[in-house]
Amino acid sequence: MKDKLVILGSGGGRHHIRTQHRATGGFLLKINGVQAHIDPGPGAIVRLNQYEEDPLKTELFIITHAHVDHYNDISAIIESSREILHDKNYNYLKKGILLTTPEVISLISDYHLNMLEKVVRFKAGDMLNYNEVEIVGTRVVHSPNNEGFGIKLILKDYSIAYTSDTKIFETFSNQYSGVNILILNLLRPDSVTCKRHVCTDEVIPYLNKIDPPLDSLIITHFGSYMDGPRSNRNFVPSQVNKLQEQTNIKKIIAAEDGLKLKIDELII
Ligand SMILES: [Zn+2]
Ligand SMILES: [Zn+2]
Repeated sequence: MKDKLVILGSGGGRHHIRTQHRATGGFLLKINGVQAHIDPGPGAIVRLNQYEEDPLKTELFIITHAHVDHYNDISAIIESSREILHDKNYNYLKKGILLTTPEVISLISDYHLNMLEKVVRFKAGDMLNYNEVEIVGTRVVHSPNNEGFGIKLILKDYSIAYTSDTKIFETFSNQYSGVNILILNLLRPDSVTCKRHVCTDEVIPYLNKIDPPLDSLIITHFGSYMDGPRSNRNFVPSQVNKLQEQTNIKKIIAAEDGLKLKIDELII
């Protein structure tokens, strides 16, 4: 299996937007021959080039909510996904499919939306089959002002999910039942709580409730209390240790900018 996950940014929140101490480019999923770019925040196009990935290959664009660390570079990413913009008669080449919320769609120019083959208004509970990948919207509890969703991608041989930005809520664990690999946006360490995000101590009991247990957990989207201007050190390694000790998950991996992971090494 050639499927891969490429981290184009392990940072989240406004301090990393400003400092780029950790990049904010989202991530690529190369699954079943499809290249998907998920949550291309500020600098996503720079990181694609820096980490020698090819934006021309992207055909699936997913933006989980209208926060700038998730959607900022989408127009550049759409425009960079084709070599030729239009033919001699200015007929624009249509390529790719965008899954996102109505609010994000309203933030993208018609010029860029018209470059896409399809724009899908997506929310938790929705389902879409794309090239034999079943894409399911999962629930988030994040911003009272923004709609949002997480995603679960179900393939023939495995399933991978992305929580996006969310707090913990009662049914958090159920929706990841049967998932092999979970990408978790973990902005804060230990018991440093936040109204809109999870911290390590809050999420551990819910990770342990996922049945059957996950094969791999990838933590990412670290905020400034985790590693940055508001932390006096990088708390990521200690969170990996804690998750290893206190959960039933076989493999815990911390995202780093530019990290490339082979999916078959994450399925145990
Ligand atoms: Zn975020
Ligand atoms: Zn957010």
